[in-house]
Amino acid sequence: MTQRSSQFDFADHSHRRYNPLTDSWVLVSPHRAKRPWLGQEESPSKPNAPEYDAACYLCPGNLRAFGDFNPSYSSTFIFTNDFPAVKAKQPEINSTDSPTSLKSRLLKTQSVEGQCFVICFSPKHNLTIPLMTFEALIKVVGAWTDLYRWLEKEAAMENKPYKYLQIFENKGTAMGCSNLHPHGQAWCLSTVPSEVEQEFRAFKKYLHQHSSHLMGDYITLELQERERIVLENETFLVVVPYWAVWPFETLVVSKPHLTSLVEFSDAQRKDLALIIKQLTVKYDNLFETSFPYSMGLHQAPLNANMKERANSWFHMHFYPPLLRSATVRKFLVGFELFGEPQRDLTAEQAAHRLRCLDSGVHYSQRSSTS
Ligand SMILES: [Zn+2]
Ligand SMILES: [Zn+2]
Repeated sequence: MTQRSSQFDFADHSHRRYNPLTDSWVLVSPHRAKRPWLGQEESPSKPNAPEYDAACYLCPGNLRAFGDFNPSYSSTFIFTNDFPAVKAKQPEINSTDSPTSLKSRLLKTQSVEGQCFVICFSPKHNLTIPLMTFEALIKVVGAWTDLYRWLEKEAAMENKPYKYLQIFENKGTAMGCSNLHPHGQAWCLSTVPSEVEQEFRAFKKYLHQHSSHLMGDYITLELQERERIVLENETFLVVVPYWAVWPFETLVVSKPHLTSLVEFSDAQRKDLALIIKQLTVKYDNLFETSFPYSMGLHQAPLNANMKERANSWFHMHFYPPLLRSATVRKFLVGFELFGEPQRDLTAEQAAHRLRCLDSGVHYSQRSSTS
């Protein structure tokens, strides 16, 4: 019979962790991570796609859905999504329902307009972010920044109803991305999307209660504890957040109080490009596979006023689904759909594994004799 331990052990006993960004909880069951894995282990995969694919609608010079041809681009290339999620202009919703009616109370609607963009990171079909050069990645960060700046100008000068720019990347079929060509998206909307709105609400409440920014205080704490740090440079810190849901989820956060890409200096843009490269190399090296993830940037609303700026803090989330190997992924099902998210591996264990991995040499570029 096992003896009941009298001391609480975070690496062994089940517990819940609070996510102050979303005001939600995650169930952590670290004892389950110790159970033996009897599933299939796949051999490491090496990328073997061609540099150019004639059938790819993102490759340079190729034909897109409505007859446009991509230019023969040589670095980052942005175009308007041929199948945008929102329209640039549409009629207003004219509701005749009384504001006190049940319908007004329960069936709420908001109009949303905007513009959606596709950002090809590289002209090369078979390159992913971890395989791109540092110089090419600086151009990606530059393209995000230029887009943000251009949309701010459009909103101010052309009176476009743009409020928020959500930049993101879905990488790999496990995250629902059908095209291998390295690309991300940017959706510019007339409203702040709810995930972001929730964070802004949390920041505002925290600022009111503690007279400091939640993110700033969280960075201070992580730099003291150092248990969940994966990478850091002068401008950025990468941690597996205390409340992570996905097994190897990370948060990339600016150490100084930067609110949006347009505030970055050249050196800070380089620091971001470098840390993204290092993090994604580690991710690929973890299971020696092209590691799938959804990645997104959270920053200030477009043309933010002083208060909105003070309340924003630049950061990025990486949500990768893989759990134990290149083929074993985590699903948010069952208890997680009906109760709350659950994880086996603790954030500290995940951070330790990521921290120990090489961030410089990609597994596919290692010499086969080593
Ligand atoms: Zn392509
Ligand atoms: Zn966020």
